[in-house]
Amino acid sequence: MATQSKAQYLTDIHTILKKRYKPKAESTSTRLTVLEAVVFGICHEDTSREQATQALARFKDDFFDWNEVRVSSLEEIQAALVGFPNADDRAYRVRRFLRQLFEKTYSFTLEALAKKPLKESVKVLQEYEVLASDYVLATVIQGSLGGHAIPVDESSRRALERLGVVDPGTDAATTRALLERAVPKNRGVEFADLLEELAHDTCVEGIPDCPRCDLRKVCPTALHPPKAASIVAKPAKDETKAVKGSTAKSAPAEPTPALDPAATKPAKGKPGRSK
Ligand code: SF4
Repeated sequence: MATQSKAQYLTDIHTILKKRYKPKAESTSTRLTVLEAVVFGICHEDTSREQATQALARFKDDFFDWNEVRVSSLEEIQAALVGFPNADDRAYRVRRFLRQLFEKTYSFTLEALAKKPLKESVKVLQEYEVLASDYVLATVIQGSLGGHAIPVDESSRRALERLGVVDPGTDAATTRALLERAVPKNRGVEFADLLEELAHDTCVEGIPDCPRCDLRKVCPTALHPPKAASIVAKPAKDETKAVKGSTAKSAPAEPTPALDPAATKPAKGKPGRSK
């Protein structure tokens, strides 16, 4: 499909999805801090925006501050991620990021990056292990740094593949680059949200619910839907993905952080949490 017709096809998909799902105003109006955007990205990959927003709110409400998250056990961090797939790996990645951030800056802010040129900020962010995830990086660029980025997780990538926008097996980073060329910046956030709605509503893993999907008249997969027998069960994620930059199933052991004055939990925490 030529670039021009692909851009038109994506515009048509956007229009149809906008009629089906109501775009959420808060997606485009709320800026996250850089730190929050990293945590949000870790939580949002292959989950809904609502789930990720709730998890971010729990981190802010249930912990004294980000330092308390940094020095908490993985079990304590997982409590903010209840109901999430791969909660143990997400908890590990959140803590790993906070530990690296503290080791590098002795603080819990990266707001100076919001004032730097985007390329420079991205270079700094890529020094952090969790930013090896293209999804998390794109989330930060879009949600905090004001750049044009359309985060693509496996759920969105799967929907775009079924729609024939990308060839089978195209990775998320390549898919993202294609989207960012074809979808203008002022529609990027809304497009990503609508795609997410689609991927969690009808274009689900396994057999898609094409009869209920408003894209069925333009989608090539709707004409030849996969049969149950052709769906090969995916191996467990810990067999296929390295933990670094992914939502692998089991979190690896992490080196104990160097002792520092802030490495203990604050004496004054919120009620109900063990200190
Ligand atoms: S028609 Fe079916 S395969 Fe195509 S986008 Fe909709 S649910 Fe997915």
